[in-house]
Amino acid sequence: MRRRSDGGKDDGKVSAGGAQGGSDVATVVPPLEEAARGLERGERCTLCESPQHKTLLRAKGRTVIECRQCGLRALSPMPSLEQLVAINEETVHPFFHACLEDEASYRAYFARKLDDLQRYQSSGRLLDVGCGAGFFLDAARERGYEIAGVDLSPVPVAYARDTLGIAVTMGSLYEFQAPSDTFDVVTIFQTIEHDPDLPALSAELFRILAPGGTLMVTTPAADGFVARVMGSRWFGYRNVEHVSFFTRRSLRYTLERSGFEIASLEVEHGKGLSPKYVLNRLINYYYDHRTVIRNGLRLLHPIMPLLGKAVLFEPWAHLYAVARKPLQPSSAGDIPSHLRERTPEGAPQGAD
Ligand SMILES: [Zn+2]
Repeated sequence: MRRRSDGGKDDGKVSAGGAQGGSDVATVVPPLEEAARGLERGERCTLCESPQHKTLLRAKGRTVIECRQCGLRALSPMPSLEQLVAINEETVHPFFHACLEDEASYRAYFARKLDDLQRYQSSGRLLDVGCGAGFFLDAARERGYEIAGVDLSPVPVAYARDTLGIAVTMGSLYEFQAPSDTFDVVTIFQTIEHDPDLPALSAELFRILAPGGTLMVTTPAADGFVARVMGSRWFGYRNVEHVSFFTRRSLRYTLERSGFEIASLEVEHGKGLSPKYVLNRLINYYYDHRTVIRNGLRLLHPIMPLLGKAVLFEPWAHLYAVARKPLQPSSAGDIPSHLRERTPEGAPQGAD
């Protein structure tokens, strides 16, 4: 973790994002008052494209705005995917080894997810997007699903391939280029908050899922108990890989606007975490924040062995949604419902 001593500079990299993608916005994070004038600059919600938003908070040198129309909370300016991949490579590596130490906890959590999934879809082709080390896929394979995985990070992908023998594809979901209507199940755990283009992501998830298929999503709950208590100090805002922050309302909107039908949407407790994992993540999140907190956390390191197998968990930590792609009536023709939604008024809708 000591290699994170340049952690503060990462923020500069994230924040410089606005310069990419043709924006003429300044290449540094604007001060609060300038961010609040996003409306005047024509800045729009990355999800619903509304220009109506308010500046919600600043965390770790980044500005989070909240859309007044759909409720999505997102970074402003939004970094590009390329910049996020670079950040991912810097931050996932140390994080990954902490993940491996908590393998049993991950597996227990994913076993519960598979129990849930089997109520909706007990077999078939399953894709895990952002599959990491492949613990979920490994368990899904044991239950008889035909598995596939895709992840951007080389280190976890290598682990999934070499240690678990899972043929995970390295790259983005878009590079994966699955044919339409391919998967009976698509899972995406703790990943959508990393994607700078939510309309494209949810449309792609919808496209590759077979009609009647099941989508399972988890993401940090920006309206969860801990997030509400901690405000701008909430871990979700301080994770430099996260660019969008969801409430129940904005997650529902993200999925429904692409054509999904929500089967369930709830706030769930986080999985069990070892004290060492929690400590490592806290140092990472608060490194440049308050020296007192940072040094206090470091002082705890020597007593870690005393905590042994204690398990910590974050209450009401994640949003957890299960959604279905509707069985489309044949009269709907070839136009997917998420595209029909955008058909200009008065144009034929394909239903009659
Ligand atoms: Zn919006």
